Amino acid sequence: MNFADLGLSDELLKAVVAAGYTEPTPIQAQAIPQVHMMKDLIAIAQTGTGKTASFVLPMIDILASGRRRARMPRSLILEPTRELAQQVAENFEKYGVHHDLKMALLIGGVQMGDQVKALDDGVDVLIATPGRLMDLFERGKILLTGCELLVIDEADRMLDMGFIPDIEFICEKLPTTRQTLLFSATMPGPIKKLADRFLTNPKYIEVARPASANLNIAQHKVFVSSRNKRDVLRQLLRTDDVTSALIFANRKTTVREINKSLQRDGFSSGEIHGDMDQSSRIAELDRFKSGTVNILVASDVAARGLDIKGVSHVFNFDTPWHPDDYVHRIGRTGRAGAKGRAFTLVTPEDAEAIANVEKLTGTVIPVFALDGAGEEAPRPEREPAPRPKREPAPRAEKAPKPARKAEPRAPDRPRPESVQDRRPEPRRASTAQPATAAQEEESTEGWNGPVPGFLARPAG
Ligand code: ADP
Ligand code: MG
Repeated sequence: MNFADLGLSDELLKAVVAAGYTEPTPIQAQAIPQVHMMKDLIAIAQTGTGKTASFVLPMIDILASGRRRARMPRSLILEPTRELAQQVAENFEKYGVHHDLKMALLIGGVQMGDQVKALDDGVDVLIATPGRLMDLFERGKILLTGCELLVIDEADRMLDMGFIPDIEFICEKLPTTRQTLLFSATMPGPIKKLADRFLTNPKYIEVARPASANLNIAQHKVFVSSRNKRDVLRQLLRTDDVTSALIFANRKTTVREINKSLQRDGFSSGEIHGDMDQSSRIAELDRFKSGTVNILVASDVAARGLDIKGVSHVFNFDTPWHPDDYVHRIGRTGRAGAKGRAFTLVTPEDAEAIANVEKLTGTVIPVFALDGAGEEAPRPEREPAPRPKREPAPRAEKAPKPARKAEPRAPDRPRPESVQDRRPEPRRASTAQPATAAQEEESTEGWNGPVPGFLARPAG
């Protein structure tokens, strides 16, 4: 299967070749023809499987005919975060180089003036986060009645962040004759309901999840005590041939502390977390991408979905509370065939969390013994070996109990987007996941890289 078989125009094929893609991913192969046929679509595939191009490519061809009108965007793409919105915009620029399409990005944290100006001139594609869009809509700066194509991207993440009511509101403002595409990594109940209500006779496509993590990633767990976590981290950073590293922590405060302490020790590091405004997040990310700093300390939410290439190491300073996060975090390394290394610091309190990770990935992560210092940590009484069918014993009282910082959303709107973005309301209860609703920052997605092995395999 190649891109030419999918009925894309020649101009688009040229852009795809220039982007360096030789073969569509399974979700692209299945979704693109459906979008071309103007069908409504539900597409479920794990993060990093190329969902963006599955809608961006056919949309460019669809939008190639027709014309723009002031303040009436012809199509709308909803994204849960500014970073993801920006990434989709970059995709449009990359694939749309041979087309005359105008795009506007409506995201919080940046000046609204230019965004409104672009809308006034007329756009073919509007890429927006729900908060900022609602804001502009309520100020009468935008009309959605000319919008014939709607994409709800990263739907499960929208749910996590409490955006479903906004999306319902927006859907009601669009013409009912529109085409609607919904992309998600998972399909929890409320998303299913949303789809039932706002999609018309949709085609359902699902690409199976890979059972285990990428084989190019050498994974290790390091037993530590809470007290010597930072020492161990420093030692690993100094001794493991680190060229560039992402360090994940479970809490925003920890992200800040680690970064400060690394800088004090002469490391070249930056940080990214949900409490930073948009421009600082972008600036930090750019510093990391350009190599100005080679260490980026991150929270799950801030790093989720970001396409960061060529990271040699991932360090889980904290064992993630939710096992999915583990897969997403370590997926930032070992990409595009390169080898990567992932270290997870495990304190005695993390015994259950790491056991859940091993259960999910179906592997026992090898223990990494540090030379000399750092190894005084008491080990958990037993290795969390592969469990025979038995469910893990309920030991909720042992689970980490982070301070719950996320506040419930105020029901009134409009709300300033910066506040929404920073304080996502945990909405996990509905998805029967382990007790992670208390996470300071919610997360499921974040792994945005192709997975060589399973991308090559056609969907079942
Ligand atoms: P998702 O939305 O499913 O999480 P993205 O659309 O962000 O995933 O794509 C993840 C990564 O895969 C990006 O770096 C993108 O450039 C790359 N990618 C997308 N399609 C292909 C393809 N056909 N071949 C190789 N890489 C691809
Ligand atoms: Mg995506």
